[in-house]
Amino acid sequence: MYTLGIDIGSTTSKAVILKDGTEIMASSIVIATVGTDGVSQAIEDVLKDSGLDKSQISCTVATGYGRQSYEGADYQVSELSCHALGVHHVCPDVRTVIDIGGQDAKVLSLNEQGRMVNFVMNDKCAAGTGRFLDVMANILKLDISELEVEAAKAVKPASISSTCTVFAESEVISQLAAGTEIPDLVAGICQSVATRVASLARRVGIKEQVSMSGGVARNAGVRNAMAKELGVEIEYNPMAQLMGALGAALYAYEKAKS
Ligand code: ADP
Repeated sequence: MYTLGIDIGSTTSKAVILKDGTEIMASSIVIATVGTDGVSQAIEDVLKDSGLDKSQISCTVATGYGRQSYEGADYQVSELSCHALGVHHVCPDVRTVIDIGGQDAKVLSLNEQGRMVNFVMNDKCAAGTGRFLDVMANILKLDISELEVEAAKAVKPASISSTCTVFAESEVISQLAAGTEIPDLVAGICQSVATRVASLARRVGIKEQVSMSGGVARNAGVRNAMAKELGVEIEYNPMAQLMGALGAALYAYEKAKS
């Protein structure tokens, strides 16, 4: 049985096809926001890569910020539940999930079955989200994937004191003009995101193992800063950005079975 999970995020659309609720047949991440054809592209990609036809998909679950405006799914499930289940599927010992996406950050507590028992969320402020990193990468004329490379070269990480993205933007421009090295600035930027989200995480309570999901988890600079801030190891799976879509495909499997 094949099931499809789609995660329609603020920045990217993701899709995963699962076989029998276990084997990942294909996955896709398309940079596109809600209201664009990113979802259709992501679905087209996974169908093509798995060699399947849409008619062979038993059930489709949509999650993410844009799920309500998408009509092509059989069910909709919240991204909190989907991230929880997706992470639990790849790493059953995880009890805390830190999910940083394009415009929000969430920290989830999981039980042994991978169900969410508590969460805290920041969806009010761009600081501590992928948006903050996107803005900073743009100022520094770096691709988002280059941030971790630069952060690793830092000698004396800069301190970014502004908690607001707009003020932090001016602060980074001033520090750049004053001659601060780019790696030091990038390390300070990654640290700033980690500090913000770590304080959110402390509110929900840190239970090990701790895992990061969402697109920002792909940035080792943020992961390392987060591990230091919280004093724990951070589990990381290269599929971190796809955890919501994977969880949606798992929910689709549960629905199809029942
Ligand atoms: P959403 O679900 O809200 O669309 P995602 O979980 O897909 O968000 O995360 C998007 C964020 O991930 C972007 O804002 C960006 O900061 C970050 N990101 C995307 N690709 C990479 C990458 N290759 N390396 C590091 N960070 C990335």
